[in-house]
Amino acid sequence: MDHMIYEITIYGIVQGVGFRPFIHNLADSLDIKGQVYNTTEGVTILADFADVSILDLFISKIKEDRPKASFIEEIKFKKTGYLKFDDFRIIESKRSGETFQLISPDIATCSACLEDICKDYQRRYDYAFTNCTNCGPRFTIINNMPYDRPNTTMSSFKMCRDCLSEYNDSKDRRFHAQPNACPVCGPRLMLLDKDNNTLDCKNPLLECAGLLKDGKIVAIKSLGGFQIAVNATDDDAVSTLRERKKRPFKPFALMIKDISSAKRLFKISKTQQESILSSRAPIVLLDKKHKGYISELVSGYSDCEGVMMPYTPLHHILFKYIDFPLVMTSANIAEEPIVSENEEAFKKLKGICDYFLVHDRKISSKYDDSLLMIFDDKEMLLRRARGYAPYPLKLKDKLTNKVVFGAGANEKNTFCFLMQKYAIVSQHIGDLENYDTAAFYKDTMDKYMDIFNIPDIDCIVHDIHPDYYSTKFAKEMDSKIKIELSHHKAHILSVIAENALECDLIGFSWDGTGLGEDGKIWGSEVFLVNKDLGFTRAAHLSEFLMPGGTVSIQRPYRMALSLLYDQYIKRIGSNTNSFSSFIYESFPFFTKVVTEKEIELILKQLQTGFNTPATTSMGRLFDSVSSLLDLTHTASYEGEAAVHLQMHASADCLKSYDIKTLIKDSEIVIDVNDLIGKIIYDLIKGIDSALISAKFHNTVSELIYHLSKIFRDNYNICNVALSGGVFQNRIILEKSFALLREGGFNVYSNFRVPVNDGGISLGQAYYGLKFLEKY
Ligand SMILES: [Zn+2]
Ligand SMILES: [Zn+2]
Repeated sequence: MDHMIYEITIYGIVQGVGFRPFIHNLADSLDIKGQVYNTTEGVTILADFADVSILDLFISKIKEDRPKASFIEEIKFKKTGYLKFDDFRIIESKRSGETFQLISPDIATCSACLEDICKDYQRRYDYAFTNCTNCGPRFTIINNMPYDRPNTTMSSFKMCRDCLSEYNDSKDRRFHAQPNACPVCGPRLMLLDKDNNTLDCKNPLLECAGLLKDGKIVAIKSLGGFQIAVNATDDDAVSTLRERKKRPFKPFALMIKDISSAKRLFKISKTQQESILSSRAPIVLLDKKHKGYISELVSGYSDCEGVMMPYTPLHHILFKYIDFPLVMTSANIAEEPIVSENEEAFKKLKGICDYFLVHDRKISSKYDDSLLMIFDDKEMLLRRARGYAPYPLKLKDKLTNKVVFGAGANEKNTFCFLMQKYAIVSQHIGDLENYDTAAFYKDTMDKYMDIFNIPDIDCIVHDIHPDYYSTKFAKEMDSKIKIELSHHKAHILSVIAENALECDLIGFSWDGTGLGEDGKIWGSEVFLVNKDLGFTRAAHLSEFLMPGGTVSIQRPYRMALSLLYDQYIKRIGSNTNSFSSFIYESFPFFTKVVTEKEIELILKQLQTGFNTPATTSMGRLFDSVSSLLDLTHTASYEGEAAVHLQMHASADCLKSYDIKTLIKDSEIVIDVNDLIGKIIYDLIKGIDSALISAKFHNTVSELIYHLSKIFRDNYNICNVALSGGVFQNRIILEKSFALLREGGFNVYSNFRVPVNDGGISLGQAYYGLKFLEKY
């Protein structure tokens, strides 16, 4: 007799993650007959339940036991008629519906594959490209859709008989595992010296381990590009790397053998452990337990370190042969994109690396390692790339049938497509000032349009800055509607989008740089935002000057001198004493930092305003204070001075400075000069700079609370959004969240997209969507 058949469709990331074999096994175990197949929308099951009560059990088991790397968005089921099945089968894929298929990001080596590479009787023993349907490369090897082997960079490797039989066996873990490979048929490793000579060795990974032990610097071709590895416990090796890479202070990421080794060195909470061991295998910021073992040179000023676990078989095997942590940093020159192909590596990394561990599988998409911290018991992404992008962010149930494009910021760029109910934010692209990064931006965008089958863009949103590459690019693109949006509004919109907020709110958009709507450089903007996304600029720092423009971003002492000039005018009142002698006498350390000639030049710039824009940037205020406290005067990377200031803050000081505000054009203006005056007074009194730094951080956090209270009292708004690079500062983030929550506010920030400029594209795209809804 024919039975009533149920059609069950599962939406989400359910392809390329071992979903069909999982369903097959589950159906067998419950004695369900029928079939399962991939569609263009997801996975569909036709199931014959001899007993209908099993339906609930079946669906709950799908949800509970789903493959680790899958993501279930929704399960729909309906009765579909009478049919008869003799068994349960996986059948060929079918086309269905209009939607696009979500694609899995790359997945860290699963435990079963790890066993394969560790057991010497397995045919994949020590094989660096082992993978299965539960793990392995995905987006980094996909050239086109559908996700089948010929459309990946594995197409040039023909599967051997053993691999092919696994690939075709629906009960095998490698059934339809597109990158399936073994030592007989798959990609191979090679070790080369810096002159491109192949080293004659049986086991390149064993050899590579030996080189690392000897303190050599090795470029390793990984999933999304090259990494540079060096023994993290070897001061000389790390300092050579810093010297050659011209990267004096910016922290390096670490890769550590396993979680128990990591626990000996770092404090690791349950959530941090879950994150670091997840199939996304990000770099997680961890607090050091004790100093001494890992070279102090790895993390610069920071008391925390970015740590990741081995995430490919290559890394796992390498760590079989070494017992020390490795510095594992993205191989790139300055702010250029990560180096991804062998030739490029030899060209660009020759002066940095002694050896090259390469392989012959091409990388289709460049991906950096993702970086995050755990805050409020959640992952807070700081750089969103491998393992995360282009995993979609589901915004709301029903969004739009239009396609909106957010072109992104100039630095830490990502772009974003908003379509149907998803926001697809690209992987971290980088700083678009750079020619290679701009090319990477364009290539990646073309690729997303292909892979996600995006026909036309209905609306483009870009920054108001006319000279940004992303702005120029957006202006040349095809689209009926183009909208410009200022940087700091986009920050707040990214919080609104991510949290699906539909309420009035107070938005703190605090960072280093962004062009404001008045043509000045903003960075401490507080907005009142209504439900319809109407923005009012309600508060900001008083304006101060950036002598020499962008050069003062790299030289925080120029910002300090700019603010000291105001004190000089106030205190000296006349030119009885020259500015430079005022500086040198009040702060003798400046004699080592800046020449008299440069001080006079800065003075001239401040007096004439030549190439000296006004700013309300919170980032520049942090820079100034860092220099005033004799911490960082010249920044080798963006944010260095602020990081140094944060790390210098004494942990148990609860004091703060009183803030003076004034009202100007119905905006609250925070008096920067008054605050700097108070800091200088403390310095003159001989107060320890660690205490001053703590007081400064407390002041900034309390300011957020104080302003929020004013706006709540006046406008009855109790939702607060925090966005911008300032909120990467843990002290500010933790204190302002705590104060606001204690004070009864609902506090929101960015967790799934970076709180820094990496989240701007989402805010832009969301604004475009709302615009389309209105008109
Ligand atoms: Zn696996
Ligand atoms: Zn094979």
